[in-house]
Amino acid sequence: MITKQDCVARDAQDALAPLREQFDLPDGVIYLDGNSLGARPKAALARAQEVIAREWGHDLIRSWNSAGWFDMPRRLGDRLAPLIGGKAGEVVVTDTTSLNLFKALAAAVHLQAQGPNAARKVIVTERSNFPTDIYMAQGLASWLERGYSVRLVDSVDELPAAVDADCAVLMLTHVNYRTGYQHDMAAITAHAHAQGAVTVWDLAHSAGAVPVDLNGANADFAVGCTYKYLNGGPGSPAFIWVPARHQASFTQPLSGWWGHAAPFAMAPDFAPCDGIGRALCGTQPVVSLAMVECGLEVFEQAGMNAIRAKSLALTDLFIALVEQRCGAHPLGLVTPREHARRGSQVSFTHPHGYAVMAALIGRGVIGDYREPAIMRFGFTPLYTSFADVWDAVEILRDVLDCEAYDIHASRGAVT
Ligand SMILES: *Cc1c(COP(=O)(O)O)cnc(C)c1O
Repeated sequence: MITKQDCVARDAQDALAPLREQFDLPDGVIYLDGNSLGARPKAALARAQEVIAREWGHDLIRSWNSAGWFDMPRRLGDRLAPLIGGKAGEVVVTDTTSLNLFKALAAAVHLQAQGPNAARKVIVTERSNFPTDIYMAQGLASWLERGYSVRLVDSVDELPAAVDADCAVLMLTHVNYRTGYQHDMAAITAHAHAQGAVTVWDLAHSAGAVPVDLNGANADFAVGCTYKYLNGGPGSPAFIWVPARHQASFTQPLSGWWGHAAPFAMAPDFAPCDGIGRALCGTQPVVSLAMVECGLEVFEQAGMNAIRAKSLALTDLFIALVEQRCGAHPLGLVTPREHARRGSQVSFTHPHGYAVMAALIGRGVIGDYREPAIMRFGFTPLYTSFADVWDAVEILRDVLDCEAYDIHASRGAVT
């Protein structure tokens, strides 16, 4: 039997525990939704004040140079790169994940169209992928009007065979947003390459959550979010990774002036710059972009291996406690028990999942709900303690034992 004292003792031994001090979390809240919107680094408030009052308010347009606004997508990309196994000059922080996927997919399709696999016209992905990933692929395929289509695969077991002689691009989300299932990036990339396909990886639920080694896996392109585990703030710009080996041939259709070789030459024809800047399009949301740095600074104080070890300990503990204390209730574990296949979240189904989650949120345990019937709990080692896990499960047990949830509760626009 695991006790609360065991959890408190683990917190006392936890080398990452002091990092919680760097986040502002309200009293009375156990925040298990950092997989959807990361908590606020305390430093972000002072940084926002500086950007708005001094850089914008006082220095005005001079800040594009003097405050380094123009270089920020590259500078932040270089700071983010080590978290995903990228090198300096391979990542920019810019635009949204959806837009970056469009660019990466277009580049992947172009790469294939130039080579011996030009006849391949299928983009393979999973039906369980995050919808925007599928929608962006469908949008690109139909706008190209060159016979491209999207093939949706229903299970991981069917993936290898789906990467066949028609498959141009395999686009996968590394950690599934709903189940927390983590793909074997290196093995799948090797298989795709052996079959002649190019890979695009979405790291929305991986960056800052699990160790990722894009170069080690020899992946082709990748994108991801900064507002989830990286704590960049609501709607903060996303990132795109293009490895050095693909940069010279990298081309994408959103050829805005920020990707031009000489943006201030104001030439009428597009000529791409060298390097990762080709992935840029236009002017960035500077205030929001600046916040990303505050999140990345915390990661530089804790290696991904330590974060991963604590993440697995937290998710193992959560699963064990739910099974120990809520075993009489119809909860179904959706997330893999196998460590290598697990991201940094735990999902349970419950027939009244939405209502139970609403009740938990009402009592300060903030997770979220995803169709069908899935309660998601995200675990962020930078600011979640073992005692939090204990307390969250106690509240879950109480809500379930007392049936303290309203199955007729109305739903907000965002669940
Ligand atoms: C969160 C998430 C997104 C979000 O895309 P936006 O363009 O930021 O809305 C995309 N893909 C996956 C897999 C995600 O988890």
